[in-house]
Amino acid sequence: MKKIVDQIQTRLKEQGVGVPEGEVESRLRMLIEDFKVPESEARRSVLNYFLKEHGLTPIRGAARGASEKAKVSGISEPGKWIDLEIKVLELWEPNSESISQTGLVGDETGSLKFVKWAKSGLSDLEEGKSYLLKNVTTDEYQGRFSIKINRTSEIMPLEEDIAVGTQAVEFMGAMVDVQKGSGLIKRCPVCKRSLAKGICGEHGKVEGIYDLRIKGVLDDGTRVQDVLINREITESLIGLTLEDAKKMAMEALDHEVVRGLIEEKLMGRYYIALGPRVDRYVLVECIKPAPCLTSNDVDEVISAVEVA
Ligand SMILES: [Zn+2]
Repeated sequence: MKKIVDQIQTRLKEQGVGVPEGEVESRLRMLIEDFKVPESEARRSVLNYFLKEHGLTPIRGAARGASEKAKVSGISEPGKWIDLEIKVLELWEPNSESISQTGLVGDETGSLKFVKWAKSGLSDLEEGKSYLLKNVTTDEYQGRFSIKINRTSEIMPLEEDIAVGTQAVEFMGAMVDVQKGSGLIKRCPVCKRSLAKGICGEHGKVEGIYDLRIKGVLDDGTRVQDVLINREITESLIGLTLEDAKKMAMEALDHEVVRGLIEEKLMGRYYIALGPRVDRYVLVECIKPAPCLTSNDVDEVISAVEVA
């Protein structure tokens, strides 16, 4: 028991977390003695409990080794320790006091959200500047990955400017939502933003320009992906031109009929969407119906998952 307590405390200290020995031991005893949890599992559970308490990302699976150099598009699981060379694309208003900075960072393979914990005590990142972020952890929320900058991380400004790319990704899944703001919309003639009740957030009441688009959500059974589909692709996908859509809306005296039609055509069907991932969206450059899964395929998928 003492040995495991020591191991946990060493690991916590590495993360800059100090927890009294008694607290570690009593939690460990509870798991091992009262709940008969295997030692290795109990060790990980206790370690993660205290890491979480201190705003650090829990460690999953095997113990961590050194952080690895990674690219944004290569991030595929939470709880990994990585080094990333990125450019800061946007800074957002943190919604919690435990966060000192948050926003969007990217490299040539894509972009993702970052969070810098207040407890990290690290200096601030500047928008438009490039950095090497060492020893940051990956995290996942509803199928979207982010990185967390914690107190063991390092931020090193780079001389070079990291080019932010828009490498295409492919996502296959069922269309489970055609969101509000899909269908026939109006955009501000100045900034092209979509208008809410004829009003642009930036330019006030303006004479809008009609556009057609889809804000959809694809679900592959484990992850959901927001997709944005522009006018040209929406027109060919639905078989409805912008002019048709305007006519339809005028006859119905309601723009929402267009969204209704899109829902009717797409909901529940499988698609393969291809395009660059920007923030939470895949900007669709190509979308086509996925080959239907037969019940046989589904059985195979299920047994493959069970084997894994
Ligand atoms: Zn505007």
